[in-house]
Amino acid sequence: MTSQLAETQFALKGHGFSRAASPLCPRPALAAEGMQATETGNPMTGKMDELRVGDQVFRYDRDLTRQAYVSIRTGGAEECGCSYCGNFAAQRSLAYPAGFLSLLDQLGIDANKEGEVYELGLVEGLRLYGGWLFFAGELIEAGERLSPDAGTEFEFHITDPKRLPKADVSFGDRVLAVDFTTRIPWILEEEP
Ligand SMILES: [Zn+2]
Repeated sequence: MTSQLAETQFALKGHGFSRAASPLCPRPALAAEGMQATETGNPMTGKMDELRVGDQVFRYDRDLTRQAYVSIRTGGAEECGCSYCGNFAAQRSLAYPAGFLSLLDQLGIDANKEGEVYELGLVEGLRLYGGWLFFAGELIEAGERLSPDAGTEFEFHITDPKRLPKADVSFGDRVLAVDFTTRIPWILEEEP
């Protein structure tokens, strides 16, 4: 199975969670079954670099990705406005390790403009969040998605986003997403 839902459930097995068991951000995080991202928009700029991250290999178009992010107003968390997303937005700088931020910069991704985040419940006193950031690129080797940071509280992998809600702006005809899970405290006065 390659659906994003299946991937998410698989990724969360180790945490003893399933999406249905936890309060979720009210925004639907996943596209309806069978929904495909439509392929429209600008052609690739033609400058594709290849990168290996963990056991995954992919090509990415930094310039096209940077162009796309200029047109994105805010991150998905601000766009939603629920308290779960608000808690994430309030401490986004703590949500990503430095090495991950470097990767996002290399790919041309604005770290403040995630496609979407969703909250998955409490784990050892911290809030588990998942989310993704789009970029222009294509997968060469999908790998087993063994995160280089596996074993820490932060995990990520590169995924084909065709089952995710479509990005608000065009990333060209080949789009990938960096899919992550991270744990952060609840810092809002408002209880979840
Ligand atoms: Zn929300």
